[in-house]
Formats: sequence, C-alpha cells, structure tokens
Amino acid sequence: MKLKALNGFKDIIPGEVEIWRHVESVARALFQRFHFSEIRMPILEKTELFARSIGETTDIVEKEMYTFVDKQITMRPEATASLLRAYIQHGLHVAKPVQRLFTIGPMFRHERPQKGRLRQFHQMDVEVLGTDNPRVDAELMAMGALFLEEFGLSASLEVNSLGCPECRPVFRKELLRFLEERFDLLCDDCKRRSATNPLRVLDCKNPKCHEQVQEAPSIQEHLCTACSDHFEKVQAALQQLDVSYKLNKFMVRGLDYYTRTTFEFITGDLGSQAAIGAGGRYDGLVEQLGGPKNKPGIGFAMGFERLVLLLQQQTDRKIPKEGLDIFVIGLGDKASELAYSLVHDLRKNGLKAAMDIEMRSLKSQMKQANKSNASFSFILGEDELKKGIGVLRNMESQEQEEIAFDLSQINLDALLNRLTDTKDSYFLHGKRCNKKMI
Ligand code: ATP
Ligand code: MG
Repeated sequence: MKLKALNGFKDIIPGEVEIWRHVESVARALFQRFHFSEIRMPILEKTELFARSIGETTDIVEKEMYTFVDKQITMRPEATASLLRAYIQHGLHVAKPVQRLFTIGPMFRHERPQKGRLRQFHQMDVEVLGTDNPRVDAELMAMGALFLEEFGLSASLEVNSLGCPECRPVFRKELLRFLEERFDLLCDDCKRRSATNPLRVLDCKNPKCHEQVQEAPSIQEHLCTACSDHFEKVQAALQQLDVSYKLNKFMVRGLDYYTRTTFEFITGDLGSQAAIGAGGRYDGLVEQLGGPKNKPGIGFAMGFERLVLLLQQQTDRKIPKEGLDIFVIGLGDKASELAYSLVHDLRKNGLKAAMDIEMRSLKSQMKQANKSNASFSFILGEDELKKGIGVLRNMESQEQEEIAFDLSQINLDALLNRLTDTKDSYFLHGKRCNKKMI
C-alpha cells in the first residue's frame, strides 16, 4: 500500500515553500504598516459557532465542513467566526474600542479539489471590529489592492452592498417574486436555494441561472437610506484613496453574516478559481454570537494557494533567494574535523553555514555549495592546512582570497566585507552579504 496525502491536502515542500514564506512575510509587513495586530486561534471549534455565524443553509455549513459529529466540533472552514469568538471571549473590545486584527493559517472545506481549490487551504485574514465607519471599508479594500500591487498582480476589485436587516428582506421578497416567474428554468441547486437562500441564486455559476438573473432587481437600488448613504461614502473614500473598483450587483458571498459592503478581488488568470480574496461587513455578528452590542465589523481573507499559483506564473517575479552565507569544504580527516567546529562557530556568530558531513570529493562539495545558494565557500584542503591558510571564494564573482587560518581566532568579517559586491548587498549581523534574487 502506497501512503499518500489525502486528496485535496497538499505538502508544501522545499522549492515551493520559499514563495509561501515570501507571501507571508510581505503580508505581515503590510498588516503592520496598516497597524494590525496578530491573533492566532485554534483550528477546532464547536460546530455551533460556524452554524450560527456562517449560516445553516450556506454551502459551507450544509456540505463542506469537516465535523466530528459525535463530538460536535468542526475544523474551521474560515477565520472570521473563530476570530470573533476569541474577541468576545477575551473581551478585546474593552482593551481597544476599535480592534484591528489579522491571522494566518489553514482552513478546511470538503470541496471538489481543483487547481486553486483545496480541502486544506490557507488564508490570511484581517478584521476591524468596533466601527462601521465607511472609511474603514475603503481602507481595507485599499490595503488588499496594495498587497496585490506589491506582487505585481493585477486583479479587479468588485464591490456590492447587501443592505441590512431592514432593507434586505424587502429586496428578498422582490427577488423571490422575480425568481418564481422563472423557477422552472433554474438549476436544481437554485430551485432549492429559492426557498432557503434566494440571494445565492444571483451568483450561481451555472450559465443558465446566470442568464435568468440578468434582469433581476438590483439590491443596490433597494438599500434603505442609511445603507445607501453608507455605500456612497464607501465609494467616495475609495475614490479619495485612488482605488479602482467596479460595482457588481450580483455579488452575494457564500456566508450569511454579511451586511452592507461586500467585495472580491478577481483575477482573469486562474480560470474558474477567479477570486483571490474576498470579504465584507458583518455588523450584527458580534452580538449574534453573544458578544457586546454595537460592535460592527468588517474583514476579508486572501487565499495563499491562488496567490502562489499567480506568482508561479509570473516570469519576472522577485523572490528573495534563501541560501547559505557560507559552505565550508573540508578535504581529508583533519580538515573536516576543523570544518566541523568552524561551521558551528559561524552559526554561533549568526551566519547560515553548512558543510558536507559525509566528506565527499572536492567536486561534489563544490556542487553542494552551489546548490545551497551559498554566497561563499571556504575551502580547507590538506595542503592549505599545512600552510595555515584557507581559501575563501565568492561563489558569484568567483573571486578567491587566501586567509591565514588559525582555528583559535577565525575572523571572517573583514573578508566577507571585502569580497562582497557593494552594489547588491545587505548586512547580516553587521556583515555585508550578497543578496540574490531568483
Ligand atoms: P470561491 O468563490 O472561489 O469558492 P469563496 O467565496 O468560497 O471562494 P471565501 O470563503 O470568501 O471564498 O475565502 C476567501 C478566499 O479564500 C478566496 O478568495 C480564495 O482565494 C480562498 N479560498 C476559498 N476557498 C478555497 C479553497 N477551497 N481552496 C483554496 N483557496 C480557497
Ligand atoms: Mg467557496
């Protein structure tokens, strides 16, 4: 029996993991620039948390959750519900009237695996709790747009408003009337949805349903005065921050908790998995989950898998190369014994250092130095050892320099500085090193 990862679950192995780390570090730096604090929640929560927030009749809760039925617990399918549970549990609204939080981690949904759609997938998720100021909506969308821009990715931002408990039921009724007239032409899913969740018919991917709803009433024309005023201010703020967007009256989102502003970042480069990120406002959710009153919120999540796919398609991508600072090559017993302690000393001094523990040939060790993207190699041959020298080689420029080698006081600092190309270098623990890009 061959053991393999489960369908829809994926290992992220060296060679690929560097892109993931790069995406994550750009995200963390950006969230800090926008003054977000990190929060980490557990993966398992009570099933009830998701049923009550995402909604009993959503696809996620109806058929996509990984639930331990006997224990009534579920592996989180998204982050917002867990984050709000933590916000309420720890009284985070007391510490700060407006909380800006982000989290990064795996989510689980039992969907049909495809390119850009997995059963364990990863999201970065940001939430602002405690304000319904429309400027925050625009600020979050501007942050999402900036994030994609920093990777050189183009995506269009689509925006809608889903109204509030006051105006949405009125729209729902009108939409139902419209759908009833076309009931026979809808797909089976939408026939069912018409009864439980008619708004979802608007964003059904089935082309037949899509055609039927073209003339459907627009929620944007059914907003109450407060919601319509809010939506206008969101758009004014987007314009003020110079964020391009498109209105999309069909966007509903697959989670019931949304109110007012909803948005998606859509790309044309990923086939049917077009949404890279999505989110919206959920003004009643904190209270609905047993938290304090009047704590509106808004957030969005970006999916790692789709971002990574897009970056892998880029020909001019700039990902910092992760390599060693120095690979120490010892030839012969004595030299490799010295190399063994030298590598440890270098590591103690903050350098990324390695050696060939199996003491293969010079050719093979040079190959390893190359493969490990080392900026330098330091060669300790038997002859060199006798002369009391080692050879420091800049792997990029191939410049070599002999260094008097006395194990009791190795000082590589001066050489690292001298051998480095100053145009394209960075400092590591005070030492200048080459910065390479792949
Ligand atoms: P889709 O319409 O593609 O199913 P969604 O509306 O279910 O997306 P959200 O729940 O809002 O997506 O999640 C936000 C982001 O998380 C998506 O834009 C996408 O990038 C990512 N995402 C969602 N589900 C998956 C999945 N199964 N595999 C990979 N990424 C996903
Ligand atoms: Mg989905």
